[in-house]
Amino acid sequence: MSSQIPLPDLDRLSRTARGPGDGGDGDEGERPARRGPTPEELLAGLNEPQRAAVVHEGAPLLVVAGAGSGKTRVLTRRIAWLVSERKAHPGSILAITFTNKAAAEMKERVEELVGRRARIMWVSTFHSACVRILRKEVDKLGLTSSFSIYDAADQKRLMQLVIGELDLDTKRYQPGPLLHWVSSHKNELRDPEEVAGLSSNKLEESYAAAYTLYQRRLREANALDFDDLIMSTVHLFQQFPDVLETYRRRFRHVLVDEYQDTNHAQYALIHQLCAAQLEETASGGERVEPAELMVVGDADQSIYAFRGANIRNILDFEQDFPDATSILLEQNYRSTQTILNAANAVIGNNKGRKEKRLWSEAGDGERIVGYVADDQHDEARFVSDEIDALVDRGHKAADVAVFYRTNAQSRVFEEVFIRTGQPYRVVGGVRFYERREVRDALAYLRMLVNPADQVSLRRVLNTPKRGIGDRAVACVQALAERDGLTFWEALRRAEDAPGLATRSLTAIRGFVALVEELQSMVSAGERADVVLETVLERSGYLAELEASDDPQDATRVENLGELVAVAREFSDDPVSGPSADPTDVDAGTLAPSLSDFLERVALVADTDQIPDDGDGVVTLMTLHTAKGLEFPVVFLTGLEDGVFPHSRALGDQPELEEERRLAYVGLTRARERLYISRAVVRSAWGAPTHNPGSRFLDELPVDLVDWRRTEAAQTSWGRPDLASSSRYGGVGQPTDAGRRNFSAAAARADARAKAKPSREIPSLEPGDRVTHDSFGLGTVVALEGSGDKSVASIDFGSDGVKRLLLRYAPVEKL
Ligand code: ATP
Ligand code: MG
Repeated sequence: MSSQIPLPDLDRLSRTARGPGDGGDGDEGERPARRGPTPEELLAGLNEPQRAAVVHEGAPLLVVAGAGSGKTRVLTRRIAWLVSERKAHPGSILAITFTNKAAAEMKERVEELVGRRARIMWVSTFHSACVRILRKEVDKLGLTSSFSIYDAADQKRLMQLVIGELDLDTKRYQPGPLLHWVSSHKNELRDPEEVAGLSSNKLEESYAAAYTLYQRRLREANALDFDDLIMSTVHLFQQFPDVLETYRRRFRHVLVDEYQDTNHAQYALIHQLCAAQLEETASGGERVEPAELMVVGDADQSIYAFRGANIRNILDFEQDFPDATSILLEQNYRSTQTILNAANAVIGNNKGRKEKRLWSEAGDGERIVGYVADDQHDEARFVSDEIDALVDRGHKAADVAVFYRTNAQSRVFEEVFIRTGQPYRVVGGVRFYERREVRDALAYLRMLVNPADQVSLRRVLNTPKRGIGDRAVACVQALAERDGLTFWEALRRAEDAPGLATRSLTAIRGFVALVEELQSMVSAGERADVVLETVLERSGYLAELEASDDPQDATRVENLGELVAVAREFSDDPVSGPSADPTDVDAGTLAPSLSDFLERVALVADTDQIPDDGDGVVTLMTLHTAKGLEFPVVFLTGLEDGVFPHSRALGDQPELEEERRLAYVGLTRARERLYISRAVVRSAWGAPTHNPGSRFLDELPVDLVDWRRTEAAQTSWGRPDLASSSRYGGVGQPTDAGRRNFSAAAARADARAKAKPSREIPSLEPGDRVTHDSFGLGTVVALEGSGDKSVASIDFGSDGVKRLLLRYAPVEKL
């Protein structure tokens, strides 16, 4: 799975945010790198159990402790201690972190403490460490060291080929679910033969056959996918004990941060390197003493079960390593007691966990501030106003992080910040309007409005794949050049394109027909949201994403829903719509057109002019990305059942507990001030949904929270005049059922129900004479489809024959 999940990418992290690791104390930053530190210096600023962990020798060591108790600091210091005091060769140290960025920071930190020698240490993620091993050893597995690493897109393409080759029913067997299934077997270290042996019915047999062939094709391509990196290394060590022995001799110290998020394959790797050996070594020589192992983690912060992370690895550590020592850290150095009490109270609702009580000397600090917003815009405004107020009181904007559950939620915050000129950065994700799916969707809209927009047109021509390859594009391009046509005109005359294969011609004709149909909606003045939804559906774009089991594609669907919501709000009310400048639109003038919408979006999306002056940058990120980090001020937003906890988790106890751990991660990122907020109404797919407050809010002790605004204070559902206002269109009335399970599909159905009522469809026959608002007089040539879907081909003389969707085309029979 790893390759398909966006690993938290912290590269764009604000400089002033404290990263994972030992970044807390400024007193150490200035030390000249060359002078060797004294033991006292290495242990300075550590409490007793932390020191014990740093100097521990021998048996495997487990440091379990709650958030902010200094686990990462201890791990970093221990590395320095090993090199400096225990004279460990830096090359004999293997430290595993969760992101490459965290690895770089840790290395830098150790280098500050012990100097340049630190550079040859292996501080990396599991994946990078395995790549290094495999580049050296992979010939033993029959690949060459120049092997490629397949990313999610490559995997998908390969699986598609496999499905075709096996002649599997493409409706039942799709690359996404298959790859997900393959990935979970790889995380459990099961190779194709083993999986084939386990299958008990036809479906499983076909899946196993697909796995087998997929793996064979990877091999033939001299390639490995992300999960293979770990699995192959484990297999390599199993099959070649002498290779394992080399690495066991080499790595005398293995240290793992965020241990709670390791999966079985990763665990097996650690075990191979660090467990006491039972048999004689392959070479018959003396047995290698096991490496010293230290793992640090917090079972309450395990948030990657969906990627195969196995919380049991931490719970069972003592069983797996019988002579292990455990050290518990209980003092938190990050947060105020108020913040900790809140986090402890929430996580206390998970069953079967080891109770641990975190305490802090930082004092009670401020109460948590709570806010119930009318809708997501109100919530974003609250956050933005509050940041202004904090800055007035001497905070830096860079002290502030805004967290949310899903990527799509960043959009409203981005828009408020753009409007108020507040610089921000989105960490571990891409700005909303730069996301691939959003750009694809906008490219569709742009080329509908302006077919001469070649860039947009080419972008969507084969997206989703419809069999119009590079060769076909070249043929059409040649025709355009030969006859002096735009690319669009050439597409419409593709039959004249020299050398175009029949199959490509058919595909192009299908595309042209689709575009012309959609254009007829645009020229009929259809609302932007309706055009967009139709584009997403008719093009097959949405269906492709929905069919996929790749979690990234699920995110893409959410983002598209968000874009539809933007368009819908804009069409409903261009004045209060996204990022409207209230001074530049005359309320009550013409209904906004699709081009107005695109213009508005272009302005919002063009954020390059925002200066980035370091101190002034607010950080936005999802909760998953926030792991290991800390900020003086944290806004935890979207605390609604169905949003956070995510709708998927509402009916499922284990998933709900994972969401609760995510809440714990979020709450414990805050050092001084914590804000929690929710919106009563939130739009998704353009349909307003009424979400009850998150159940996690109910779990907070009441005295810890100062509610600036509660649901009682806001009135939209209480007052009939507001409930039926155009903004909410009367849909999405609150259900008494309380915890309503939000469903994107239901919201889309709502949204469709709100679409412009279709005009009466003229009943036409071939030969009928018609007039069209822009093309003038024409003659009906042919008709297809019926009802809402009827399409007429009409010959408009010099304007040519047009295929028009009659529901939208401004056509009248004469
Ligand atoms: P998480 O579970 O969120 O990963 P953690 O246990 O790894 O947290 P750290 O990030 O190592 O915790 O430490 C949290 C903060 O406390 C950091 O700012 C760190 O520098 C500081 N800190 C840790 N130990 C001490 C100490 N003994 N004295 C002062 N500050 C400390
Ligand atoms: Mg940490």
